[in-house]
Amino acid sequence: MSNLYNDDVPESFELYNRATRVVPGGVNSPVRAFRSVGGTPRFMVRGTGCHLYDADGNRYIDLVNSWGPLLLGHAHPAVTAAIADAAPLGTSFGTPTPDEVALAEEIVARTPVESVRLVNSGTEATMSAVRLARGATGRDLVVKFAGCYHGHVDGLLASAGSGVATLGLPDSPGVTKGTTADTIVVPYNDIAAVREVFSRHGDTIACVITEAAAGNMGVIAGRDQFNASLYEECRKHGALLILDEVMTGFRVGRGGVADAADLYTYGKVMGGGLPAAAFGGRADLMEQLAPAGPVYQAGTLSGNPLACAAGLATLRQCTDEVYQQIDNTSRQLQQMASEALGEAGVPHRVSTAGNMFSVFFTDADVYDFETASGQNTAAYAAFFNEMLRRGVYLPPSAFEAWFVCTALDDEAMTHIHDALPYAAAAAAKVEA
Ligand SMILES: *Cc1c(COP(=O)(O)O)cnc(C)c1O
Repeated sequence: MSNLYNDDVPESFELYNRATRVVPGGVNSPVRAFRSVGGTPRFMVRGTGCHLYDADGNRYIDLVNSWGPLLLGHAHPAVTAAIADAAPLGTSFGTPTPDEVALAEEIVARTPVESVRLVNSGTEATMSAVRLARGATGRDLVVKFAGCYHGHVDGLLASAGSGVATLGLPDSPGVTKGTTADTIVVPYNDIAAVREVFSRHGDTIACVITEAAAGNMGVIAGRDQFNASLYEECRKHGALLILDEVMTGFRVGRGGVADAADLYTYGKVMGGGLPAAAFGGRADLMEQLAPAGPVYQAGTLSGNPLACAAGLATLRQCTDEVYQQIDNTSRQLQQMASEALGEAGVPHRVSTAGNMFSVFFTDADVYDFETASGQNTAAYAAFFNEMLRRGVYLPPSAFEAWFVCTALDDEAMTHIHDALPYAAAAAAKVEA
């Protein structure tokens, strides 16, 4: 049995020291650092099912699941078998392959997109979708929402949610004024503000990009048919709507949120834990991409055979029953967390979008980035650290979604249930 109560983490600490000498901040993506919760990031060496194992021999029940991709949990046998079968046949060809056609067909069958191009990351997907929208409309301006994250695309790094919010950076240095001058940031769920922007700049707006349901300022669903209203406004003014489903796609249901839009972006679950992402939409728009059309977009490793094999194996497992199971598990977890916090007298709001959810440590209604930012992040840090000590790995930031996987069994749920009151008590001790 692993030592769940080991606080001095010698191996992770040593690895972190080595990492900080050769890697900026010791991590390859900022949200992995424990900056907002304190302490040393755990260096993981193994994952099976719903469990992660760190270099110190501790076992955790994983409620991050690689930030969403692992809907089936770690090392699902169908996924690892697909990768193992594909690897000896060659890891990259730089040519078309049968599996990338099959993956594109699977995406088209599950989502509103008619045509889809594969890329390697969600960042690439949104960057390319925006370029296509600008190319297709011949316009420059992009409207995005405060707290929505679309990867680290220069023009979309304005008011970009969790990673940036966690570090307290309003915007990133290195993004030019010229770039952000073409980006208009509007509060999420504020359709009146969107209409105001369109009334002033309507004929120069190329596209509106929104997360299909916000997940990167914590989970906040669209209110009052927000996506539908955006689509309507875009149509009125000849702009395109890009629905960013990198987080929601193939996670909140067979396709994703799948509200009407012109272009969609995917990532995370569709790669089954390997780097794969996509953007797609109406065929007439997608036909404007090279080589069919003039808008350039390319990728050496796009449609990589191992990533396609892992993605296909994952999506083929993702049946309606799987989504029912995920929904049930998520609901149970929400109830357990809310009950424990309620009993300890900790102000909180559980905010959901399908089976994605966040626990905001606040009394107030949360519907946009400003209201999300009103939460007690110090209380979350105490909560997080107590759960970690008790073998439950939560997102190391209050502005993130909790992700469940199919491998969360009764034993794991009982373990979480038993840990929650201690974490709630720790959070209760923190002043607002
Ligand atoms: C994760 C995410 C991205 C970026 O994807 P990467 O693969 O990390 O580049 C873009 N949009 C949304 C909504 C995301 O959640």
